[in-house]
Amino acid sequence: MTFQDLNLNTPLYNALDDLGFEYPTPIQAEAFNVVASGKDVVGIAQTGTGKTYAYMLPILRHLKYSTQDNPRVLILVPTRELVVQVVDEIKKLTEYINVRTLGVYGGTNINTQKRAISEGQDIIVATPGRLFDLALSHVLQLKSIQKLVIDEVDVMLDLGFRHQLLNIFDILPERRQNIMFSATMTDDVDELISDFFVKPQRVTIAVSGTPLHNIEQQRYNVANFYTKVNLLEHLLHDIDTYNKVLIFVGYKKLADLLFDQLEERFPNETCVIHSNKTQNYRLRSIEQFRSGENRVLIATDVMARGLDIENISHVINFDTPKYPENYMHRIGRTGRAEQQGHALTFSSEKELEAIETIESYMDKSIDILELPEGVEISKELIEEERPQIRERYNPTKRKDEDAPGPAFHEKKDKNKKENLGGSYKFKIAAKYKKPKTKGDKNYNKRNKRK
Ligand code: AMP
Repeated sequence: MTFQDLNLNTPLYNALDDLGFEYPTPIQAEAFNVVASGKDVVGIAQTGTGKTYAYMLPILRHLKYSTQDNPRVLILVPTRELVVQVVDEIKKLTEYINVRTLGVYGGTNINTQKRAISEGQDIIVATPGRLFDLALSHVLQLKSIQKLVIDEVDVMLDLGFRHQLLNIFDILPERRQNIMFSATMTDDVDELISDFFVKPQRVTIAVSGTPLHNIEQQRYNVANFYTKVNLLEHLLHDIDTYNKVLIFVGYKKLADLLFDQLEERFPNETCVIHSNKTQNYRLRSIEQFRSGENRVLIATDVMARGLDIENISHVINFDTPKYPENYMHRIGRTGRAEQQGHALTFSSEKELEAIETIESYMDKSIDILELPEGVEISKELIEEERPQIRERYNPTKRKDEDAPGPAFHEKKDKNKKENLGGSYKFKIAAKYKKPKTKGDKNYNKRNKRK
């Protein structure tokens, strides 16, 4: 396929010619018609796959010339660097189109940005925080936004921007096209999609250059966390084979838990990266792993984004990723540069469904290995593995403050509030069969005598 096969226009063809791009990348080819259709889109693609043009080409193809001041396209990205990069890419593509693009991000003078906005813009590329500040100041009007692109959503959510995104959704016109790109699917991303997207079309490409043919894929059925730790310990004792091991886990808490276990068994051989660690800590961990000072690196999906470390002997999926794209990303860290790579996946019974999904996605089955002799099967369970005990009613612990919980059942008839006007005395009397008047002087006397 060439760009001629896509329904572009002369200014875009000219820009692509200047850039020297002949062929659309797979994500560009896949996404073009879907984005152009105006439907909500979820694209799964890594940085470096050409994803910026995957959404920009169809958007620019259909963006009409306008003299109105309010922007019509909003692109949200997680970092300033990305704002600069995306603006730069758009500028190259709009060399022959009369379109105004502005990048805004925090940490710089907001007044300069306000002035630029008031001059009128078509496309705004922004980090969420600064965008919201600008919108609140009313200099930036979002009422004409037709297309919202959220790029690198997984990173965005991992950096804690969820709240800001929701604030922004609130002030955007309801009728708009949502386009989202993420390198990996995570539960957070999934939740955001199901909450705010209307029947999104999914566009996925396998990780570019994932050399499936030179990655040996195997898996173990392992009952629970501590048995997985025992298996890992058993494998890691073979230092020659397991000489550079990248271990993936699904969430931060599990990363820390596993780190503590390995640190006990193999002191100073392991490092860990996840989004709660500081930037310095993460960089140091990656460096120590890269240089070989540490043999094992534990990482969460999002943090391992774009990690290009040579000679990883094994990728170990300590848990089984729910989304096959994440599995592909994980195993693609080994077997780079045409070397033989090894990927091992540990799955508990609950995770076997995910294995099926992965296998059908790859159209390839993963070989099962027997648990090696001597690996002890643990009965101990971590919190997440224990059966959930459901509390029936605890008035001090309510998950959703606004939801009517069990305390707000319909009152019984006899407790329903009524107008207790004049007939109250008689009602009470009938109910409790008390003396008819308060002032029965002989009442106490009579009772005393008894
Ligand atoms: P991205 O994934 O959007 O960060 O793009 C990665 C790089 O690929 C950028 O430097 C783009 O300029 C470049 N690129 C995008 N599309 C193409 C293409 N069709 N052919 C060659 N390079 C491309």
